[in-house]
Amino acid sequence: MLSVEHLGKSFGKNEVLKDIDFSVRKGEVISIIGASGSGKSTLLRCINMLETPSSGNVLYHGEPVKNTPRDVVAYRSNVGMVFQSFNLFANMKVLKNCMIGVQKVNKKHEAEAKALALKFLKKVGMGAYLNARPHQLSGGQKQRVAIARALAMEPDLLLFDEPTSALDPEMVGEVLEVIKQLANEGLTMVVVTHEMAFARDVSTRVVFMDKGIIEEEGTPDVIFNHPQSERTKAFLNRFM
Ligand code: ADP
Ligand code: MG
Repeated sequence: MLSVEHLGKSFGKNEVLKDIDFSVRKGEVISIIGASGSGKSTLLRCINMLETPSSGNVLYHGEPVKNTPRDVVAYRSNVGMVFQSFNLFANMKVLKNCMIGVQKVNKKHEAEAKALALKFLKKVGMGAYLNARPHQLSGGQKQRVAIARALAMEPDLLLFDEPTSALDPEMVGEVLEVIKQLANEGLTMVVVTHEMAFARDVSTRVVFMDKGIIEEEGTPDVIFNHPQSERTKAFLNRFM
């Protein structure tokens, strides 16, 4: 479905991603773990074309993603992203937040956009908050709306960048439950996370990033129980 080949990204002299090869097959649930600053967000942002790679390619269904505004907008309706900081439209009610992209980008009529928004708001347990504004919601509720908004675009791949890192601890569970449910339903996703129990229980594959490279990847069993790399072991020892 998606692959990156020889992906490099530098900010000035800071080489943040080094020759990354990575691919996602349909139905995979991939967790990306690694220390802060290892390049996890930059990798997702390059995949979503929020950053322009310094070198290498992003291929979607085998075709290079073209970096023109029009191509990128179309691409992002297939490859959605959920951010740590929610990024809801503050001036729009919950329902409108979930309709606007469906109408403007996916060019659906209002009624169809509304039906999609309702369907996914109900799915994330936010069907009772259609007329609320983002500032009236808790962090967990905001993130569930952000997930519904991404789903309403009917993406075939969804990227999550630390979706629970900005939440108070008591709200982490409700958001992870939603993501877990989507995984069980077969949605293809890549989740950057520090929630090791989630990565172990929900992923089909775990990728460990260290200093701009993929240091090791494998099944949760391999990464968590039989890691090969000393760096992976050292990272996990700090968590477990
Ligand atoms: P992670 O998500 O794993 O914590 P990031 O991808 O956010 O790591 O960051 C990796 C490195 O890239 C860090 O050193 C960070 O300071 C740098 N970086 C990220 N985004 C930018 C940017 N827009 N401009 C300059 N440096 C950046
Ligand atoms: Mg990050």
